Order: sequence, then C-alpha cells, then structure tokens
Amino acid sequence: MTTASTLTLATEVQYLPGVGPDRGRRLLKLGLRTARDVLFFFPKDYEYPAPPLAINALREGMPASVVGHITDAELVSRSPGKSIFGMLVENETGALRCVFFNQPFRADTLVIGQRVLVSGTPKISGLRLEIVHPKVIPLGDDERLPQAPILPLYPLTEGIKQIDLRRVSRECVDALSGQLAEAMPQSLRVTIAGVLRASGIEIEGELPSIATTIAQLHYPDSESTAKAARLRLIFQELVVMQLALAMRRRQLTSDLQAPPLTTSALIDARIVNRFPFTLTADQRRVMKEVAADMSRQFPMNRMLQGDVGSGKTVVAVYAMLVAIAGGYQAVLMAPTEVLARQHFATINRLLCESRVRIGLLCGSMSARERRETSKQVNDGEIDLLIGTQALVYGEIQFAKLGLCVVDEQHKFGVGQRVALRQGGIAPHCLVMSATPIPRSLAMTLFGDVELSTLREKPPGRGRVHTYLAHDGWKNRWWQFVEAQLAEGRQGIVVAPRINVDASSEPETAEDVSSVADVYERLRLEVFPNRRVGLLHGRLSADDKAAVMQSFAAGSIDLLVSTTVIEVGIDVANATVMTILGAQRFGLAQLHQLRGRIGRGAHAGHVCVFTDGEQSPDEYERLRVFEQTDDGFELAEADFRLRGPGELIGRRQSGLPPLRIADLQRDIHILQVARSIAQSQLDDDPELMDTEWAELRLQVMRRYGKQLSLGGVA
Ligand code: ADP
Ligand code: MG
Repeated sequence: MTTASTLTLATEVQYLPGVGPDRGRRLLKLGLRTARDVLFFFPKDYEYPAPPLAINALREGMPASVVGHITDAELVSRSPGKSIFGMLVENETGALRCVFFNQPFRADTLVIGQRVLVSGTPKISGLRLEIVHPKVIPLGDDERLPQAPILPLYPLTEGIKQIDLRRVSRECVDALSGQLAEAMPQSLRVTIAGVLRASGIEIEGELPSIATTIAQLHYPDSESTAKAARLRLIFQELVVMQLALAMRRRQLTSDLQAPPLTTSALIDARIVNRFPFTLTADQRRVMKEVAADMSRQFPMNRMLQGDVGSGKTVVAVYAMLVAIAGGYQAVLMAPTEVLARQHFATINRLLCESRVRIGLLCGSMSARERRETSKQVNDGEIDLLIGTQALVYGEIQFAKLGLCVVDEQHKFGVGQRVALRQGGIAPHCLVMSATPIPRSLAMTLFGDVELSTLREKPPGRGRVHTYLAHDGWKNRWWQFVEAQLAEGRQGIVVAPRINVDASSEPETAEDVSSVADVYERLRLEVFPNRRVGLLHGRLSADDKAAVMQSFAAGSIDLLVSTTVIEVGIDVANATVMTILGAQRFGLAQLHQLRGRIGRGAHAGHVCVFTDGEQSPDEYERLRVFEQTDDGFELAEADFRLRGPGELIGRRQSGLPPLRIADLQRDIHILQVARSIAQSQLDDDPELMDTEWAELRLQVMRRYGKQLSLGGVA
C-alpha cells in the first residue's frame, strides 16, 4: 500500500490507496494504468448540488433542495414490505410533502420540529408536488447550509462504482496535480486568453495553470471554473497539433525549391480564350490563387475541392497551361484508367488547335507504347502527360516537370505529395478532390496544405431529384426507369458488393455475387428488351474500359455497377440512377454516386433503396441525402452524424486521435490555435523560445514520428 507521500505520477493504480490488484485490473479496462492516467481521465459529466428553492418555485422534474421544518410526520404501517413514511417540510414559502417507502426507520429521526434540508426531484402526485426518497440532511436551528460540492461523474466499467473512481481521483488530484509539467507559462496563458477573448470565446482572466486545470476538471468550484479548465486543455491539444502541422509545412517548403512560373495578362487571356464557355467567378478566383502560388519559388501545395461537376478540370487545365507557357512540363494523374482516358479525350478536344503536345500513359497500353511515351517525356517531347498514378509514379522521368495535378484524391495520407521531387527540386502540386471536407477537418488534415474551394456550379445543368424509397416502390420505379430509357436516356444501377466494408481492398469473386445477381435479374426479368451492362472491380482493366466506353457511346442502356463507377465518370446522357443497399454507403459516397448523373441538360433522378432493417441513424442520414444537394452541407452532416472516421479515417489522415478537443464543436478554438501557432512560428521557426519549450516537447512526443519532424528535433 502506498501512502500519499510516496505517490508519484508513475505509481500504478493498483498501488493507490484502497485499490488493490482486483480493482486495479478493472481500472485498466478504463485505460487507467498509472496515477497520471487518472489525472487525465476526465468526468463525462458532473453531479450538481441542487440549489435551495422557495417551495412555490419548485417545478416538476427539476432537481432542487428545500430548507424547512418538519411540521407533520406519519408512518403508515410498520409491516415489512408495505410501510410508507410521509412528512411535510414547511417554510414561509409553502409546504412540501416527502415520502419514503419501506424505510420505517425514517420515523425515528425525522420528527416534527426538526429543521432539515431535503433534496431530490419533485413530481406531481394528485394536485401537488412531492419528493419520493429525498436526500435528507438534518440541520440545527441556526446552522448554516452545508456547501455541497460539485461531484464528477466518470465513465464506469463492470465492478467499478462512481465512488471508487471518486476516491482514486480525489487522492491523485490532491497529491499529484502540482507535479505536472506546465506547458504554458503564465505570461503565455495571459496572452492566449486575450486572443481567445478577442475572437469571441468566453473566458475570464487568464487560462488556468495545469494544476488548477486538472483539479477543476475533476472537482470544479463552479461551472465556470470547469469550463475554463476544459478550454485550456482543448486549446493546448489543438495548438500542439497546429504547431506540428505548421512546422511540417515549413519543413516541406523551406527544403524544397520549385520553378517560379509567372503568368502575364497575355498568357492568362490566351488560356482563358480557349475555353468554349464563360468561366464562373469561382473558377476565376481559384485560378488566380493557383497562379499566385505557382509564381513562387517554393512548391505550391494546394488542394482544390469542389463538388462533382463544379468544373475543377478546367482549373487544372489552366494551371497546366501556365506551366507549359513557362517552358515546363505538366502531368495530370488520375486514379483509374477510365478517368485518365476521359481526361485525355476532354483535354485533346480543348487543346486541339494548340501546339501543346499531349501524351497518355495507361496500364492497357503495350509495353512498347509505354516505353515510347516515357522516352518522349524524358526527352521533353511531351508537354502534358496524362496517366494513372501507379504508372506515373513508377515509370517516368520528366525532362522538366513544373506542375503535378492529382485528380480525385480520396486518400489523404500525409507524405505522398513529395513522391515526385528530385533532389531539392519539386514540382508545384495541385490536388483535386470531389469529397468536400468540412473546414474544421480540412484545417487539421491539411494544416500543411492551402485550400481552394469551388462552390458555384457552372450554369446550364439539369437538376437532380432524389427520392428515398420503400421496397414496395420498386416495381413503379422500374417502370419510371423504363420510361426514361424509352426516351433515349441511360441509367445506372449501383448495387453493393457483399463485403462493402473493406472498400479499399480489391473485390473478390465472392464479393461481386450481389451485383452479379442484380445484373442477371434486371437483364432477364425486368429489362429484357434493353441492353444491360455489368461493371465491377473484378473485371480486367481492358474489360472495364470496354464497358465504360460502350456506356459512354450509348450502346448500353442500363449499367449495373458496384461503386467502381463512383469516380469521375462523365456520361451526359445518363439521367436515372438506382442505388440499392444504400444504408451501407456514407453520405459522401452517396453524393459522389449521385454526381454521375444529371451531367447534361436533362434533369436527373436518383432513387435510393435500402435492404434489411434500418437504424434511426441510417434513416436520418438518408433523409439528409434526399433533402440536400450541396456536397458541403452533406459533408458537415456526415461529420456530425458519423464523426470524422467516415470521411477520412484516422488511419488515412495519419494523425493520432484527439483526446479532449472535438473538431466540429471546437472549430473556433481551432482557428485561434492555428493562428497563434502560425504567428509564433513566424517569429520563432524552430520554436526555441523557452516559454514554448514544453509545448515543443509535446509536439515532438505526439506528432514527431507521424509527421517526420525529426529534422526539427
Ligand atoms: P469536376 O471535375 O469538378 O467534376 P468538370 O471539370 O469535369 O467537373 O466539369 C463538369 C462539366 O462542366 C464539364 O463538362 C465541363 O466542360 C463543364 N464546365 C466547366 N466549367 C464550366 C463553365 N464555366 N461553364 C459551362 N460549363 C462548364
Ligand atoms: Mg473531375
């Protein structure tokens, strides 16, 4: 047994007073190994003492206390199992009835004339309020009211009661909170509180010290001290993260040089005139942002996000032509061959009368063709290369690469952006994503990336109607689809493969049986007179491309597909989409799918079916999908309903999870943390200021490895 004087932060919980090996094992289930863990194991809520109220101010269901004298007391039957003890507590504001069932002993102490404090939750009985089983504290006639403490409510586990955790936390807080290292010296806490206040976040005085923070989080003096303590910890967690991301950005940009590619008004006008439509204001704005980045001598690191169909490709083409006008090469990388070919066709059309030499690199090309293309790229005979990521990363040496555009980036892993650099020279980099990311999340994941957003859609596109359907509607829906096909439109049916959870893994034969079944049934029974096609990830690249090409050419009426259809496909004549088993897809993914249709002038129609029982959450999600067509709103909703995991898992972001901060809820604090981190690093790039030494240590401990901040250490 450890006594308070020998306790340290490293003491194992089983040696804490009153714990022992058995409870120690149970506490481990809560993640509590050492006394330090206990200090950072925060209550999920608090138990507040109810304020003494006037009796005529009591409300049903509102916990309260009342101080008064017992003016009546009666025990009805002492027999075990059916005794009732009732009493009346009275003061100048009224009388309150209190009742105890099967506690006959109450009659011994609660006698007429006794002054008491009773507390509990009043409920209506007959015509008036009463409290059943109130907590009773007997009071002397002149005695002052006891000061009831605010008590922590911890998450529990089997065999561990609230009272056990309170005993342990009380012990640790009293003995150890003063021993924690202070990451934010007082002057910093004063400054930061000022900045937080200036940005509208409520806080009085300075941020509390770490010792006060820990004590107040477990045993707050008031709600406001608890709030200040939370605020400090949330801020600290976020500023450490933002420091790490900003340090990484510095490291990437200061190490690397890129060719400065300036745009003149003439070049700009020449490029813009190529496009057969008027650019949207959003597109113009983003083009300016991109051009400004590319004119610097360190690499652009920008993400362009925009809903499907918002016209990102046009921005990418603009950037590539800026690079080419500056005498450099540009590469556009697509995730799939289908998309690469589609880009190749579009861009060839756009640039058909220019001198830009365009090349394509795809897996289905013969080895000889690929070698030939590689050689031309290497010799500088191709200005603009389009290809799949795998091939470009694997095979190509550029003569003079100025810009790399990555399309439809879904995996946001930290680090792949540096893949194309050679020595200290890196190309500018533009990543395009059609998965809208909530701002708070983007700031975290891409603390080291600039963000541009296209929100405005180009004019002249059909509206897409979305219907959330019941199984009973299926026949009617198929009739509607048939009517659309009869008008010459095309349709897509998305069916899940069985094992959709492992969506990043290649589909196996067994997985595709679900979509294959749907295909067979639709082809034979529902649409026997239509040309029905099948597309899934198990097809060879050639077969996939062939199916897509027939669909694009209009020789397939109805395409049954897994989510491989998701990315980037552009068939303007496709107007009806059916999504089966929709509850298995996230909102972002559903929205991506929906983006495949209504890309032409005709209105689009999406009908969403689910299978099996849905949970209320799933239903809520699909309702949101039915009701909004704005990808950013959906992303926020997905984030709210499912957390960041759905959009971009922690695995993909490569960052450790946050412990106390919540990106969505704490977005305002996040913004402050980001700007404070940035301005500190502007003055003190290596974070050598002694005031920041402990924060720096935390940055290294928590993020050093993931973000390879090693060079800074
Ligand atoms: P995204 O890649 O963002 O999904 P695209 O760049 O493929 O979108 O553009 C979608 C369609 O809209 C394309 O057919 C494109 O030619 C067209 N488009 C792009 N910008 C405009 C514009 N400003 N006005 C009219 N049509 C446009
Ligand atoms: Mg696109």
